[in-house]
Amino acid sequence: MATRLRPVSVLFKYLTVCNASKKCTVIGGSGFLGQHMVERLLDKGYSVNVFDIRQGFKNEQVQFFIGDLCSKKDLLPSLQGVNVVFHCASPAPSSDNKELFYKVNYTGTMTVIEACKEVGVQKLVLTSSASVIFEGRDIKHGTEDLPYAKKPIDYYTETKILQEKEVLKANDPANNFLTVAIRPHGIFGPRDPQLVPILVETAKSGKMKFMIGDGKNLVDFTYVENVVHGHILAGEHLQKDSPLCGKAYHITNDEPIPFWAFLTRILIGLNYDAPKYLIPYWLAYYLAFFLSFLVFILGPLIKIKPTFTPMRVALAGTYHYYSCERAKKDMGYKPVVSLDQAVERTIKSYSHLRRAS
Ligand code: NAD
Repeated sequence: MATRLRPVSVLFKYLTVCNASKKCTVIGGSGFLGQHMVERLLDKGYSVNVFDIRQGFKNEQVQFFIGDLCSKKDLLPSLQGVNVVFHCASPAPSSDNKELFYKVNYTGTMTVIEACKEVGVQKLVLTSSASVIFEGRDIKHGTEDLPYAKKPIDYYTETKILQEKEVLKANDPANNFLTVAIRPHGIFGPRDPQLVPILVETAKSGKMKFMIGDGKNLVDFTYVENVVHGHILAGEHLQKDSPLCGKAYHITNDEPIPFWAFLTRILIGLNYDAPKYLIPYWLAYYLAFFLSFLVFILGPLIKIKPTFTPMRVALAGTYHYYSCERAKKDMGYKPVVSLDQAVERTIKSYSHLRRAS
């Protein structure tokens, strides 16, 4: 009897191992990138848990765990029996709450690492950012070998650096815990609450008249499905002795485009006027610098949060595009949606924001 049952029990064990390796948790799965990750993972046959402080959508195939990633007690139930964790939670970069950035991105990520180790999660894939190497000066075809920014463009990015360092340091093949960081840049696509809605708002308010610089500076804008593809490939290629262990990878559309040409395509596609006038980069930068200085001086008297800051000028007026050769070589990455298709799909998905003719 026992001998007749053996093949069945071996098959059962094999299926259990296969199922476990396809069981994942997406931390931040209610967000823009997170929700796209969940949809693609389900398509690929993964069983998916979402851990987030809010439930952003409903899907009967997904098990939701609502909690704060800074609490190990909240996290643990969502990680039971899971093989791979995708950590793409963060406070919005537009927040000016430094304490929150530090708490969630840095100490919270250390809690995620601890919780993963405690329950025996084998792989952790972090969503970092290509901006961890950007200091407001031109980067052309930047590789992952460039050092972390000594003067990051903002506090959010400073905590993304701290977070990435901790995750990569935690890679520990001897104890069966492997880590990798994905660095996307300028994610866009359907349901993004930031880029297109803010662009349209700015155009509507008549503030989208000037291009900073000569309009030629190339930047990476990365379609959300390509970012998702990079994360899933990373999760699947992250194995003991693979080159991915403890490394960071740029994921882009591999088609850098002039910053202002990209915005113009979206604006024209939604029937808004594109910016027409050029303002020299140095002039915009010093104006923004002067404005920040004024805000600092007047700080004790009035609270103003300017949107025209030196950091925003640098983001709009410098070259910053990144090489994804390492991802191509180590995990066979190739964008799955071209920039033309991506722009077309994005414009279509925001038809409700289109200006009536
Ligand atoms: P998002 O704001 O849409 O999603 C973030 C999610 O994290 C939200 O659902 C939020 O509720 C959740 N979250 C925040 N604090 C939490 C906490 N304490 N506990 C549990 N959940 C929490 O952001 P996104 O644009 O989807 O970005 C996803 C990731 O990609 C972030 O790590 C971000 O730094 C990184 N990134 C984004 C871009 C971009 O252009 N959007 C570029 C580079 C890197």
